Amino acid sequence: MNISLKYIAIIFFFITCNICCQTKTDNKMKYNDLTPKEAHVILNKGTEAPYIGEFTDNKAKGTYVCRQCNAPLYLSKDKFNSGCGWPSFDDEIDGAVLRIPDADGMRTEIVCANCKGHLGHVFLNEGFTDKQTRHCVNSISMEFVPEEQQLKPTIKMENNLKKAYFASGCFWGTEYYFSKLKGVIETSVGYMGGHIKNPTYEDVCTKKSGHLETVEIVYDPTKISYDDLVKFFFETHDFSQENGQGPDIGPQYKSVIFYQSPTEKEVDEKYIKILKDKGYKVATTLQPTSKFWKAENYHQQYYDHKGSTPYCHSYKAIF
Ligand SMILES: [Zn+2]
Repeated sequence: MNISLKYIAIIFFFITCNICCQTKTDNKMKYNDLTPKEAHVILNKGTEAPYIGEFTDNKAKGTYVCRQCNAPLYLSKDKFNSGCGWPSFDDEIDGAVLRIPDADGMRTEIVCANCKGHLGHVFLNEGFTDKQTRHCVNSISMEFVPEEQQLKPTIKMENNLKKAYFASGCFWGTEYYFSKLKGVIETSVGYMGGHIKNPTYEDVCTKKSGHLETVEIVYDPTKISYDDLVKFFFETHDFSQENGQGPDIGPQYKSVIFYQSPTEKEVDEKYIKILKDKGYKVATTLQPTSKFWKAENYHQQYYDHKGSTPYCHSYKAIF
């Protein structure tokens, strides 16, 4: 490459990275697309007509989540029949719902604590249940996840499956590639390695919680080995970068393998040595696993939901 081509390449790289950063920040603020009817209630604080909502008479066991951002809001055990024409709950999932004085000066509005989408209103001391609380929620502000669907991962783990944990920059991209591997049964994105409980995405973004964006992989060891996962980890990101990954700079984006046993650590060390012997610089570090905190729902299977592909991960065969 001659000098001028080199400069053009460098300029192009920086422009691309800046666009990627911008896209990433914007995307993380975006939630599920809303129909005009949903937007009328969730964004413009409208009210759906009584007795017509999808969940008013729903008695199935499960969790009610936010229609806009998928955050869990209410459990079916707290739902009761108030006869008012809207779903009624006498309790919310801890920290999931915010109460704010309504613009009408009389009532108390309730919104999703995560995305601030409008849910309805809360009324106290009406005598319906011992908790003396009625969250009057628009069905259209919620989605319902039946209990059978929530139990799936637990059932799967009974079947001699194994887990592995990798951090290689933005967890959207890491998960995208691992989820496509044969023998990988399930993937989740979350946070590991920090020192606070229940970290949120915002906590991790402060760079002070100590967590890394991490992917939990559930795999079938009869179909894919831990060795293969480690090799694939190195082949899908730039393991030579020390301060983050691609345009995502910060300790939460570093390249780390979280090992669960001395055997896994030996495998990790084996491939780091192979890479160094091949002449590569390896910035990847090894850490023992700690508690994996699953990230907010809107980060899970991000690219598959969006129908797009990662901006800072790609596959490159090495081994
Ligand atoms: Zn929400």
